Amino acid sequence: MNGSSVAIVTGGSRGIGRAVSLLLAERGYAICLSYVSDSAAAQAVVDAITAKGGKALAVRSDVGDEADVIALFQAADKLGRLAALVNNAGVVDLKSDVADMSAARLQRMMNTNVVGSFLCAREAVRRMSTKRGGAGGVIVNLSSVAARLGGPGQFVDYAASKGAIDSLTIGLAREVAGEGIRVNAVAPGIIATEIHASGGEPDRVERLGPGVPMGRAGTAEEVAAPIAWLLSEEASYTTGAILDVGGGR
Ligand code: NAP
Repeated sequence: MNGSSVAIVTGGSRGIGRAVSLLLAERGYAICLSYVSDSAAAQAVVDAITAKGGKALAVRSDVGDEADVIALFQAADKLGRLAALVNNAGVVDLKSDVADMSAARLQRMMNTNVVGSFLCAREAVRRMSTKRGGAGGVIVNLSSVAARLGGPGQFVDYAASKGAIDSLTIGLAREVAGEGIRVNAVAPGIIATEIHASGGEPDRVERLGPGVPMGRAGTAEEVAAPIAWLLSEEASYTTGAILDVGGGR
């Protein structure tokens, strides 16, 4: 791994994105991580990476805001050649039936989870594509097992946003397969992060973990490892894949 290769990790300040940032830094990438509000958490990840001799930068950038996304990629350009994008930033919302969902809720969900991932993928492809003078690269998107479970009575909007991520993964992978870019997704099951509390269910991991076929929730590190593999040369012939990381769920 070339030390000047850059990985952008959106939402790299907490949860899965944090674990991905730390692992990719260990693998030699310079990390450009984004966050939207928790600057202290973002700085803590940067500090942890630089303390080990790695290179990292945190940028406040809302994935749902085009100008912010462009600024994020421009900041990453200063670190070196963009080799990897982990489209990780994502949100859930409070438990709700579809019949009670407001347009504002749906727009926020789709703007952050879907439009944000598209905008970041667009900026990455513009830099990575061999047809555009780039040297290739790899994109990993964060889907969810919710895309196939549907999230009834809970968050069908979130599940649908992850269904869109699956289609983005398949379509973009085929679109840029001849341009030196691989595009894959991981679909985590129930992973112990703060996202569940942000959806009003702080006890979700304890409640649902035992019902997972493997009998427990997963850790952020257990999602970061397959992401790092998909980014690596060991996955050189894998594109358009959606890898379940859900303990059998
Ligand atoms: P998390 O712990 O809630 O962390 C979310 C991260 O995304 C934080 O760094 C947050 O930044 C950032 N973020 C939120 N909105 C953003 C925005 N608009 N622009 C930029 N960054 C934003 O979430 P997580 O559990 O690690 O989830 C990461 C990804 O995995 C998401 O796409 C999620 O849907 C997916 N996933 C998670 C699970 C699970 O069980 N945890 C399961 C399936 C899929 P701040 O720190 O500034 O708030």
